[in-house]
Amino acid sequence: MADVVVLGSANMDLVATTDRLPGRGETIAGHTFRQVPGGKGANQAIAAARSGGTVRFAGAVGDDDLGRQILAALGAAGVDTTAVVRADAPTGTAHITVAAGGDNTIVVVPGANGTLTELLPAHAAVIAGADTLLLQLELPLSVVRAAAAHARACGVRTVLTPAPARPLPDELLAAVDLLVPNEHEATIIAGVDDPHQAAAVLARRCDVLMTLGERGAVYATAGAEPVTVPAFPVTAVDTTAAGDTFVGVLASALAAGTAMPDAMRRASAAAALSVQRPGASDSAPTAAQVDAFLGGAA
Ligand code: ATP
Repeated sequence: MADVVVLGSANMDLVATTDRLPGRGETIAGHTFRQVPGGKGANQAIAAARSGGTVRFAGAVGDDDLGRQILAALGAAGVDTTAVVRADAPTGTAHITVAAGGDNTIVVVPGANGTLTELLPAHAAVIAGADTLLLQLELPLSVVRAAAAHARACGVRTVLTPAPARPLPDELLAAVDLLVPNEHEATIIAGVDDPHQAAAVLARRCDVLMTLGERGAVYATAGAEPVTVPAFPVTAVDTTAAGDTFVGVLASALAAGTAMPDAMRRASAAAALSVQRPGASDSAPTAAQVDAFLGGAA
């Protein structure tokens, strides 16, 4: 049995660095190029597995080299990929240009991810055997809704990262146990401008853990005072996928029976470690690194 199952996207990030972003119709010379496995689903699965959980990834890649590289990266992190489907479409790609100073443009081509429009029997089976299901919004909404409903029927805890942000159907929110938005996502889903008011509105529907970047995270539940966990003060060099690291580590801690305040502290520590390193999925720390960091911070 897998403690954590992630049903989500897997992309290959194709990253070029340049002096500046090209203008419309313009071709410019780049400096460096690198390929990094990404997609919010794969990022969360890698972070959860590195932090010590038993983790299975349910998603789709193409029958191509990029797909094989993503499966190898997931496997190297200790993620079980036996439920990953080989779709009749190319592996999803994110075409990223990063200019000096950090401005970027990103074009995501969903490819294989977009073929998952309904819950496949193989994915339903692994969800049924999980403690916790992690979902994001980079797969078609139809499969996210079906997976959350199936998990609820099986008594599996569902954690949804509502990114990319979009209004959510009531039926999906009702099937989610824990929503983990950042401030921007919380305001869009709740339809109110103030993030803390948005979290309070959403907490009437399900538990909410809103991440606040370098200001930490706040846990809001119906009828109780919100609990804030500060971020660890570190010098960030790259905050890409901080939220995915946070959620992956939180889920593996919750699945291991850790209480929410301690799970939040562990997730914050892992995210603080990840922002001090360049990269996305490749910057998630191991359980031993998180233990050492928390030992030093105690
Ligand atoms: P991303 O989209 O880059 O994955 P996000 O917007 O989903 O990020 P954030 O709220 O930026 O998520 O960050 C998630 C968590 O990571 C925070 O709650 C915090 O614990 C940690 N974190 C983020 N930025 C920093 C930072 N500069 N210093 C320390 N911790 C940070």
